[in-house]
Amino acid sequence: MEIDHDAIAANVAALRSHARAPRLMAVVKADGYGHGLVEAARSAVAGGADELAVALVEEGEALRAAGVDVPILLLTEPPAAAIGALLTARLTPTVYSPGFVTALQEAAAAREGPPAAVHLKLDTGMRRVGVPPADWEDALRRVRDAGALHLAGLWSHFAVADEPDHPFIAEQADAFARGLELARALDAAPDVAHLANSAATLDLPDTHHDLVRPGLAVYGLEPAPGLAGEVPLRPALALRARLSLVKRLTEGEAVSYGLTWAPDRDTCLGTVPAGYADGVVRALGNRARALVGGRRVPYAGRVCMDQFCVDLGPDATEADGDEVTLIGGQGDERVSVDEWAGLLGTINYEIITRIGPRVPRVHL
Ligand code: PLP
Repeated sequence: MEIDHDAIAANVAALRSHARAPRLMAVVKADGYGHGLVEAARSAVAGGADELAVALVEEGEALRAAGVDVPILLLTEPPAAAIGALLTARLTPTVYSPGFVTALQEAAAAREGPPAAVHLKLDTGMRRVGVPPADWEDALRRVRDAGALHLAGLWSHFAVADEPDHPFIAEQADAFARGLELARALDAAPDVAHLANSAATLDLPDTHHDLVRPGLAVYGLEPAPGLAGEVPLRPALALRARLSLVKRLTEGEAVSYGLTWAPDRDTCLGTVPAGYADGVVRALGNRARALVGGRRVPYAGRVCMDQFCVDLGPDATEADGDEVTLIGGQGDERVSVDEWAGLLGTINYEIITRIGPRVPRVHL
C-alpha cells in the first residue's frame, strides 16, 4: 500500500481554502482512514489542519506519543474509566451524557491548571450520540456551570450531507443554528461551532460555521460522485503487488477454489500475492479488474486468503515480478476505490479502512 502524503497535505490545503470557516479539523480516526494514524495526522497538519479528531482515547494517546501537538478532539465519550488518560494526554473530549460531564468535572477539578476544554455534541437528527433537543438547555447549563470545564466547542453531525437534495440537511442545519442561539442566550457561547463533514465542507458552505471537520476528502475521495466540484482532491492511497507467477493456461482449465472461471481460449494466467486477508475482498473475484502493463485485466476465479489470479490474455508478455496495480493508476489507466465500492455494494470508506494489517505501508 502506497500513501501519497503530498496528496493528503494538498487535499487539506484545498479544503481549507475552499471552506468559509477559518479553521479545519482533519479526522484521522481508524488509523487515518487506513492511511496510517500518525503519518496521516502529520501530513494533514503540514497541509494546514488546525486540529485533529479521533474516535478513541488510544488514538489520541498515540498521536501525543508521536509528538503531535495540535488540539485533538475525541468524537465520542469514552468509558468514564478513561477520563484520567484523556486528561493526561490533553485530549478534548466530546460530551453529551450528564453522568460523563459530572465525572469529567470531578476529575478535572482534582487537577491543577486551567479548566479542561470540552465540546458539547447536540443531536440534531443523526440520533446516534449527542444531547437530544429536549435536554439541550440542561446540558448547556451543566457544562457552563462546571467550573473545571470550558465549553470550547459546540457541534453536531449530518446524517445525509452526501445527498445534496435531501430536505433533512436543512432541518439539521436549522436545528443546529437554534442550539447555537440557545447557547448564546444562556451565556454559554462556545469558542467554535462546527457541523460540516466532507460532504458539507465540499458542498454546503452555509454550514461551515467556525470550523470544518472533513475526513474522507482529506484522503482525496468524495463522499458521493461529483461532490468535490472544483475542489482538486487527489486520492492518497494505492495498492500494488508484483506477479508471483505467470504461466500458460489451456482453454477450459478452471482456476481457483470452486473452479468458477475457465478461459474460453488459451491464455496467460498471472497469480497475485494478495488476498482477502489483505483487503482484496473475496466478492471481487470474477468481477474486478487490475492493471498490468497499463491494461485492465480481469480477476480470474475466486479471491483466496493470500492470492488471486488475473487473466493476462493470450498475447501477454508479462513475467513474474511485474507490477500489478489493484487500486491506483498505472499508465493511462486507473482502478479507483470507488470502482471497488461500486462492485461490492459498499462505500469507499469501508474499502480504505479494511486494507489488512500485514500489507506493508509505503509512505511516499
Ligand atoms: N465527524 C464525525 C462525528 C464523524 O463520525 C466523521 C466520520 O465518520 C466525520 C466527522 C468525517 O466524516 P467524513 O469522512 O464523511 O468527512
